[in-house]
Amino acid sequence: MPRLVAGVDLGGTTASLALADLDGTIVHENKIATESYGGPQRVLERIAEGILALAEEAGQKPAALGIGLPGLVDMESGTSRFMPNLPTNWVNVEVSQILSALIGCPVKLINDARAATLGELRFGHGREADSLALFTLGTGIGGGIAIDGKLRLGPIGAAGEFGHLAVLPYGPMCGCGNRGCLETLISGPALTGEAVRLVRSGRAPILNELVKGDISLVTPKTMAEAANAGDDVLKATITLRGEYLGIGAANVVMIVHPEIIVLSGGVAEMGELILEPVRRTIRERVSMVPTEAIRVEKSQIGERAGLCGTLALAADTVTGEPS
Ligand SMILES: [Zn+2]
Repeated sequence: MPRLVAGVDLGGTTASLALADLDGTIVHENKIATESYGGPQRVLERIAEGILALAEEAGQKPAALGIGLPGLVDMESGTSRFMPNLPTNWVNVEVSQILSALIGCPVKLINDARAATLGELRFGHGREADSLALFTLGTGIGGGIAIDGKLRLGPIGAAGEFGHLAVLPYGPMCGCGNRGCLETLISGPALTGEAVRLVRSGRAPILNELVKGDISLVTPKTMAEAANAGDDVLKATITLRGEYLGIGAANVVMIVHPEIIVLSGGVAEMGELILEPVRRTIRERVSMVPTEAIRVEKSQIGERAGLCGTLALAADTVTGEPS
């Protein structure tokens, strides 16, 4: 039987678990509720139980495990530094050590957006491009950089926090303490918040009709539907926010000069409404380096990118290849 590795993509509400062979082909997988209110020790125990259950099905324990966490991690020491969306924030939790003792294999940590970048590099657009920058556009905004076929991480794995590129010097306050970060302008909550304001002021009538006045149904998906059906003020708002993202992407282009910029997460599902202003803004604002060949595309593997990346990280641990 080929050797197996394990991957975990830990989110605020669910954790995706998988066992795969060293090529990343998933053989068993499962989703569990994170139940983050139980605290880090309990969450990690539940993850270990879930992985061991999959290992029992497979008849084999994993040779290594990769886990993607939603926040700042120290890859070197295997500890979580700060998880903004999990109770207690998981400050200095020895995640590698705890999981390794429970499961009995080496455990590697990685930030979830960096995991998604590694997943995209190995199994998505990276198959046709050696250099890419990935933006995860969800509840928050994350990112990652791959240059010359390798994920680039920096000393603790924090390289690529694109969500906190400031594009409006006096823009909204961000959770990070800065102002006008991309996360305050084009994350899912930032976009839907603006759409709700338009609904309430009668300037997004089609969206209002679509959600039947229930603002809890305002999502990037319903926003895109209404904008494409003729809600012009809403569409202009999305375009403007897409241009802000384009300014951030233009800055990334100046630093990395990637072959492709990949957008993933719920906001990327708005498709051309977001992709077009990003492409246009890069062309308008970058002239120092060639931009004609830089593509801006939606992720090829979508929400599975993070899980695929953790499996690749675990496989690299076994084969000795650097990520
Ligand atoms: Zn910020």
